[in-house]
Amino acid sequence: MPRRTKIVATIGPASSSPEVLERMILAGMDVARLNFSHGTEQDHQNRIEMIRSIAKKLGRTVGILGDLQGPKIRVGKFRDSRIVLKAGDRFILDADCALGDQERVGLDYKELPRDVSSGDALLLDDGKIELRVDHVTGNQVHTTVIQGGPLSNNKGINRRGGGLTAPALTEKDMEDIKLAARLRVDYLAVSFPRSGADVQWARDLMVKAGGHAQIQSKIERAEAIDALEDIIAASDSIMVARGDLAVEVGDAAVPAMQKRMIRLAREMNKTVITATQMMESMISSPVPTRAEVSDVANAVLDGSDAVMLSAESAAGQFPVEAIAAMARVCTEAEKQDTQTFVERQDLDRIERVEKAVARAVIHTTRHLEVKAIAALTQSGTTALLMSRADVNVPIYAMTPVEETQRKVTLFRGVYPVDFQHGMEPAEVMAQAEAQLLQLGAVKKGDLILLTIGEPIGKPGGTNTMKIIRIGERN
Ligand code: PGA
Ligand code: MN
Repeated sequence: MPRRTKIVATIGPASSSPEVLERMILAGMDVARLNFSHGTEQDHQNRIEMIRSIAKKLGRTVGILGDLQGPKIRVGKFRDSRIVLKAGDRFILDADCALGDQERVGLDYKELPRDVSSGDALLLDDGKIELRVDHVTGNQVHTTVIQGGPLSNNKGINRRGGGLTAPALTEKDMEDIKLAARLRVDYLAVSFPRSGADVQWARDLMVKAGGHAQIQSKIERAEAIDALEDIIAASDSIMVARGDLAVEVGDAAVPAMQKRMIRLAREMNKTVITATQMMESMISSPVPTRAEVSDVANAVLDGSDAVMLSAESAAGQFPVEAIAAMARVCTEAEKQDTQTFVERQDLDRIERVEKAVARAVIHTTRHLEVKAIAALTQSGTTALLMSRADVNVPIYAMTPVEETQRKVTLFRGVYPVDFQHGMEPAEVMAQAEAQLLQLGAVKKGDLILLTIGEPIGKPGGTNTMKIIRIGERN
């Protein structure tokens, strides 16, 4: 059984050469994440072309996730790039300040003084620095330093408990959605959505720009937790974005939220990535810590579709080793996998034909010794529905549609197969069998389940499950 949990790796300076990218793909990168916070249009285009051409050369499919910067609220720049704040210091966040110093610093989000009031806790640089708001006058937020430390240019600001009103898409994000559509990215990650409406807004812009990307919501604001169902319903996929989320809700609250998010996403037939600091020590160490190994394994046991690397692969010294370590930990954890998700699926209502077929497949795998599931698909929906249960059988999403091949790279336990086929159902099924044999996924005498929509080629038309013994059909 191939590894089921997928690996998303962020691309950055440490992973931009063709040699490193090739080794990353070979080590198990399923999806490459491009961060639109950094780099030019040309950088993104070059990287995507490079990844796609190397993947093609290796006969692999790699999905592309474009991650929008979003309204991350940041301090401005300092005259000397960096200051050091001490507990008890007074410090001013000043929307009118151009270059910061020991007394004050500017703000990229000019509305901040209207969003905060005295007594609020503001957390800078992922919570490393804490400021208490004393009072607000005009465009200036006067604070006292509670937890000091070094503060350098453009570090992020969060308010404990959330509640900053910045809209989810900035002008830059709207431009980047057009870019993402033009570069044909497979997933678009929306940073800091507050509601389903924010997600729909991004989706509308993507559709308008002619893109096909799946819309992924990063859950990283306190408000997003209250609106979780609404946000998931409007999304194709979510990311448990533990970096910003921990700052807003407190780090100790995150593990339980992670479990709830993963469960809800799966129940609502959406995919979910667990992200941030999973292999953090591997930025500078060739091996993970015991705690990191446990974190990745637990994310697998929770039911994540994918686990993600951020700085580890973008800027660390061991991008390839980090992917290899994740792959090894995922594979081992999957052996312990329990069937937690199956029971809930049984309670879920069947209101669509393809869902009934998917359920029949899952049910059958629990009774017959099935070696593989061949989902002959246009849109990938049947493969998604099957993968929401914890199936112990590999699901091959067999499709001629390249976009679908790349979309399923994120689905747990689903493997894309480039499947060029005829129009006659009997011929198509024979071709599918032959291709699975050729891939080494099955051998003569194995039992497989095949799903297909007749007539052939209509998206969302899966209406048949066929039980086939390889080599004994007809
Ligand atoms: P980021 O999002 O890496 O873009 O900040 C992930 C997170 O906040 O965890
Ligand atoms: Mn974030």
